Amino acid sequence: MNLLLLIRFADGIGGPGETALLQMTVSDDRIVDGCRKNCRKWGEEEKIIMIDGRIYNFSAGPSMLPEPVLLRIRDELLNCGGSGMSVLEMSHRSKVYDDIINTAADNVRKIMSVPDNYRVLFLHGGATGMFAAIPMNLGTVSGTADYVISGNFSGGAHKEAKKYLREARVAATSEADGFTHIPRQEELALSPEADYVHVCWNNTIFGTKYSYVPETSGVPLVADMSSSIMSEPVDVSKFGVIYAGVQKNLAPAGLTLVIVREDLIEEREAMPVTPKIWNFRMEADKNSMLNTPPTFPIYVVKLVTDYLMEQGGLEAMRKRNVEKAKLLYDYLDSQDFYKTAVNKEDRSMMNVVFRTASEELDREFVAGQAARGFSNLKGHRLVGGMRASIYNAMPKEGVEALIGYMKDFAAAH
Ligand code: PMP
Repeated sequence: MNLLLLIRFADGIGGPGETALLQMTVSDDRIVDGCRKNCRKWGEEEKIIMIDGRIYNFSAGPSMLPEPVLLRIRDELLNCGGSGMSVLEMSHRSKVYDDIINTAADNVRKIMSVPDNYRVLFLHGGATGMFAAIPMNLGTVSGTADYVISGNFSGGAHKEAKKYLREARVAATSEADGFTHIPRQEELALSPEADYVHVCWNNTIFGTKYSYVPETSGVPLVADMSSSIMSEPVDVSKFGVIYAGVQKNLAPAGLTLVIVREDLIEEREAMPVTPKIWNFRMEADKNSMLNTPPTFPIYVVKLVTDYLMEQGGLEAMRKRNVEKAKLLYDYLDSQDFYKTAVNKEDRSMMNVVFRTASEELDREFVAGQAARGFSNLKGHRLVGGMRASIYNAMPKEGVEALIGYMKDFAAAH
């Protein structure tokens, strides 16, 4: 096992507050405990920041998965559910796989308290696929919809919808302030004839998130929750459709989770041009198996949701995520070396964006991440600076270690 230890020296050993990194290879857990004890003797604070070559991966997606889930995948990889074969090799029509997909869907229902009049679908094509599938399935009454543009992905969804709708209106946009806030209810120019209102719940690139559910006077609300799905409870009954690419909080890439209210697939006819694999009604009728579904990501959704339930469900996730995000934002608010432009009320719990006073320092900060056992802290090219994506699977220790690095970097510059 490879260990990377970070030691902050107490008085009289190194300079107080100075840090040192130690790397060592050890053979079992007792030696890890021994290392911890010794570190405590040398320093006032010690952290194991990397075990077995695994690092704190702050990627916006695909992103970290819970370690117990990865270990379970490893354990079951050669023989899944007593079938004598890997889930990677298994027919989606087999009994074992049937249990997997049904349990995955049931788990989603349980964990998100999905009401009975909603269907849970597992589709292809990522969230980007839904940018087209939503207008194709829902935009057939007036042929119009309202889009709230709060960042890059809602802009992308709007652009795609224009191909299929008679009119895709912009109900509000926060582009003028660089997408640093979420448009408020009073900023929304909503039309009662719209077939739906589309929002992006958490803006992965700009680090903002809705803190209120828009009132749409009966027009179905459609939310792209790709980067916040299952990070906290949401009242599903307030939405017509919730969709998410699963590669941030739930599974590896290749699958879109769609939760759709039944009347929207029963009472609306999808556009004839709709590919059948994105036709919500046809997929609901076929239990998401109109063709071969993304079997492995669905299996991982089952394992991750099993794990989330063991951990206490979405209330427990919210508590952890609030705590992690608060640590980072409290630190950002307490100093002026790093800045975050995001409006305080709209701060994302999942994607925290910040920058130093210069692009050169930002580059240096990012260049130093690997030596501290981190990766993917570079901000998106549209924003620059840094971004720490701290989804469900990022432990609090990862956030604490990041703050330690931020403090050391600020002190050294
Ligand atoms: N919406 C949001 C909020 C996202 O963060 C992303 C991807 N980062 C997308 C949509 C696009 O997702 P996909 O790559 O699954 O098409």
